[in-house]
Amino acid sequence: MSKGSPVPAPDGRRSADIVVVGAGTAGSVLAARLTEDPEVRVILLEAGPDERSERIDTTWTWPALQKTDVDWDYETVVQAGTGHAHAVPRGRAVGGTGTTNAMAFLRGVPEDFDTWAYLGCTGWDYASVLPYFQRSEDAPHGDARWRGRGGPLHPRPSVNLHPLSQAYLAAAAELGYPSGGDLNGPAPRGAAAHDLMIHDGVRESTAGAYLAPARKRPNLTVIADAEVQRLLFDANRCTGVRARIDGETVTISATREVVLAAGAIGTPLLLLRSGIGPADDLEAAGVPVMRNVPGVGRDLQDHIILAGLTMHADEEIGPAQANLGEVTMLLHSEPGRASIDLQIVFIHVPFANPWQTVPKHGYTFGIGHMRPHSRGTVTLGADGQAIIDFRYLHDEEDLRALVAGVRVALALSETEAFAPYRSASHPLVGTSDAQIAAFVRGAVQSYGHASGSCRMGSDAAAVVDPRLRMKGVAGLRIADASVMPAIVSTNTNAATVMIAEKAADLIRFG
Ligand SMILES: Cc1cc2nc3c(=O)[nH]c(=O)nc-3n(C[C@H](O)[C@H](O)[C@H](O)COP(=O)(O)OP(=O)(O)OC[C@H]3O[C@@H](n4cnc5c(N)ncnc54)[C@H](O)[C@@H]3O)c2cc1C
Repeated sequence: MSKGSPVPAPDGRRSADIVVVGAGTAGSVLAARLTEDPEVRVILLEAGPDERSERIDTTWTWPALQKTDVDWDYETVVQAGTGHAHAVPRGRAVGGTGTTNAMAFLRGVPEDFDTWAYLGCTGWDYASVLPYFQRSEDAPHGDARWRGRGGPLHPRPSVNLHPLSQAYLAAAAELGYPSGGDLNGPAPRGAAAHDLMIHDGVRESTAGAYLAPARKRPNLTVIADAEVQRLLFDANRCTGVRARIDGETVTISATREVVLAAGAIGTPLLLLRSGIGPADDLEAAGVPVMRNVPGVGRDLQDHIILAGLTMHADEEIGPAQANLGEVTMLLHSEPGRASIDLQIVFIHVPFANPWQTVPKHGYTFGIGHMRPHSRGTVTLGADGQAIIDFRYLHDEEDLRALVAGVRVALALSETEAFAPYRSASHPLVGTSDAQIAAFVRGAVQSYGHASGSCRMGSDAAAVVDPRLRMKGVAGLRIADASVMPAIVSTNTNAATVMIAEKAADLIRFG
């Protein structure tokens, strides 16, 4: 097969109005919303398999999906701030990372989106994005002024909380934190059993909730096991993609536009492989420059979650259930902050990095730093593979916030509420900030929230404009977690759904 030769896709179709690359959290929403208009023909391409199975449905076994065939299994370069190369799990299947993630459903806080608008993303302030969050969900347990009714997703808190999750909520109340509010409401603060993407006892992803009902539409073609290798151009317009399907190289044309939804690693990687990115980096990687866009792969952000703050228990306390983390707390690392910057998710089992030693039986305080200052890069190696550098803990402020989070978690572990489950105090209780900081450096793990690597904005360094159009290239948009101008202060899946919901309107209505 010659390079780029146009052979038909498996159903014979090789051209559509819109080609969406990546059937993950965002791509599944986009394809479903766009094909509500029967006049719009969409081809959705996904590198991974099309799978609905027990290993994906079961809600407490998600960690076992990492480093399997449904994971891209990326790794960072060794991080100067931690001394480790960290796993970067990314889902590789129809449903994307939404089929392998931990199922927490938290939107972010209103200040996140007002910050986006302040950074030049007109139309993305909280009041403007709220209708898209509401449209995505059916959440009858929430206040209808903020929560949705009748949408495709069914976020719900766990009903029968694990005994340890109950102890966590009691511990937070004992320390005076607000408890039991809706963490997707107008002022998410304090501890609560938060919403989960679990419906009828199994994982709910956008592939199941949005895409599955849309797949019978004649104007939608979904092609799995189809890895897009590069974008194709006619002068300055993106005209389609070249993909590997069934061992053949296939050209798929887009008469209107190509939308990239390959995620915060996959999207910049595809742009770089196609010659769109910082010219110097492309030349160093031996890729001919199609367009110099210095922001591609820059401003990469992730949340850190600390693993290994595990309390010893003499025996297992109840079996694993739900998503292992039914309750969480959103809080400030110091008084007077404008918004929350810490999340302490309670994990009712041991949870650690491969290099950490933790008790066989126990429970873990997973401290997330939700307003990281450190920003990193995705660049292209000479072998064409991604070089991922989050620069974890590069900024001292990130370390300070995590030390403060450990102190709160240790205080929670020492409460009366946990007394029945505490065989001994954690060794870090009563230690210095320097000792806690040393623990933090060895406890860093990716929270799986990569974002920002193709940042939206109005400034010269932004990659897409607030209508998500690629700067300097016609017929090309991006709609996934990579466009976040600043990472949201909670887990990133719900905000990615919102981005895709809004992107569908931007595409449909001009
Ligand atoms: C372990 C883990 C746990 C997480 N837990 C939570 C959680 O509990 N709650 C939460 O809110 N968020 C969580 N997240 C994050 C959340 O799942 C992601 O932010 C979200 O799924 C990102 O959506 P996306 O559409 O940008 O990318 P993805 O969902 O990753 O979709 C990208 C898709 O594009 C495909 N693709 C990539 N390159 C190509 C190519 N060249 N050709 C064709 N297809 C391609 C990929 O295979 C993938 O299917 C977690 C993430 C991880 C890794």
